[in-house]
Amino acid sequence: MNDQNDDFDPEQLRAAQERARQARVAAGTMLSDDAPPAPLRRVSTMADVLRDAAAIAKLPPPPAPTCRACGQELTRENTAGAKRAGMCAACEVDEVRARRRANAPRLLADAEEFAWASFDAPELARRVKPVEAIAKARAAILAPLVMFRGEGAAGKTSLACAALRARYVETGDVPYFVSASSLAIARARHKLGEGDPEEVKRALNADILLIDDLGFESPPPSAVRDVDLVIDYRHRRARPLWVTTSLEFGKIRERYGENVARRLQEDGRAVIIRCGKGAPKP
Ligand SMILES: [Zn+2]
Repeated sequence: MNDQNDDFDPEQLRAAQERARQARVAAGTMLSDDAPPAPLRRVSTMADVLRDAAAIAKLPPPPAPTCRACGQELTRENTAGAKRAGMCAACEVDEVRARRRANAPRLLADAEEFAWASFDAPELARRVKPVEAIAKARAAILAPLVMFRGEGAAGKTSLACAALRARYVETGDVPYFVSASSLAIARARHKLGEGDPEEVKRALNADILLIDDLGFESPPPSAVRDVDLVIDYRHRRARPLWVTTSLEFGKIRERYGENVARRLQEDGRAVIIRCGKGAPKP
């Protein structure tokens, strides 16, 4: 004898089962008791096909595709130039910019002390003198040749780094930052027979190059003047080059010769952003 089965009442169980069945029928999750199982459909006849087609024709049209970011209906016009489906071109541009903005602090790994530098950083206005130079740099981010000129501690490198980040957000151009000093001595440090040193290769090929503190480097210990070489190479291939320097053009000509001076001046097309004491008074 099992004690647990002593008070088992088959009537009570049946009653409980019936209540559960009624609840399910009421909730629509179960067909009523004697409803037969759904019959298999016959093979479709032409009449079936026509009836189905007529039913489909009466359905509301499927919703037009919309941009998953802004919700507007996608048209040929607002998707022109978009690379991905499900998004209007304007939202795609916004999304790309947002992604680049998130990456921007990680750019310029070779200039760690300027990791903070961006046009959004309040510190920029404290470092850059005069503060008007910031607006000038902002307006010049797409320029292929920019010289940030001024004495030390005028904020020209901070400003250049902020502008490089803004350019990257706008265009995707990945910058390479190299000081004129490291570029000048890279070859001497490099093992012979291994081609160009890494710094030189990157300086030649970067989307955009910033040579920091041009004129501050000691004359290169090797016979190859890589700073001159890089400036000339990039000029001939129309690759963007920005420099920070404290040298006026006369001094640049004296030090690097007519060829480099002309490359940097580009017949007056270079954007000159003056920082520090030499800057024009607003
Ligand atoms: Zn959109």
